[in-house]
Amino acid sequence: MPTLYIIDIDETLFITDARVRVIDSKGETRVLSPEEYRKYQLGAGEKFDFSDFEDAEMFARTSRPIERMIDRVKTIMGGIEDESYTIFLTARPDQNDRDVFLEVFRKHGIDIDSGHVERAGNIRLDLFGSRKKAVIIDKYLRRGTWDEAVMFDDDERNLLSFLELGPAHPSVRMTAYLAGLDGEITHFESRERKHGKTFRESQGRGGRRVAHDRGR
Ligand SMILES: [Mg+2]
Repeated sequence: MPTLYIIDIDETLFITDARVRVIDSKGETRVLSPEEYRKYQLGAGEKFDFSDFEDAEMFARTSRPIERMIDRVKTIMGGIEDESYTIFLTARPDQNDRDVFLEVFRKHGIDIDSGHVERAGNIRLDLFGSRKKAVIIDKYLRRGTWDEAVMFDDDERNLLSFLELGPAHPSVRMTAYLAGLDGEITHFESRERKHGKTFRESQGRGGRRVAHDRGR
């Protein structure tokens, strides 16, 4: 059962003080809470500033572990079969100090070196965050012969983009879990599936775009 495990970092494994800022056309900056960011629509002349999310030292200094999720990941990675693989898929770009960043995982007993950190923030395409994550997942799905792909993420938009890859990979079972800040997980299905049709049946050809998604 070769399985690809896809695990988000921020707000899934660790809570940190890193914040998104909005810079307006006059250069004035405002800090957004994670909640505000999720709903924020950029106004004219505004742009997001994600620089906190490149700061490995800030990650190391402020990260609070979500213990139950960390334990779950350790269990997954401890029992992993040869052909299965784990990626840590973050919206962050390259970190300014890779070792400081990875050491946080090692310190909490996560065998980060037997998996791989994929940084969707490095993708320069003009795509929303969840689409960038999907580009990376798609690359892995094409590369291997997986029976299943399992994703854990605190942002529904990322899980939806993941499930939307299903029709292109009909032999892979796509399983999504919404991760809570308390480490609880809930099985996530698209609205279509909940209403009795499978996601695939509801997609038809060409798929469906999710509007206004900036999933981080
Ligand atoms: Mg997250």
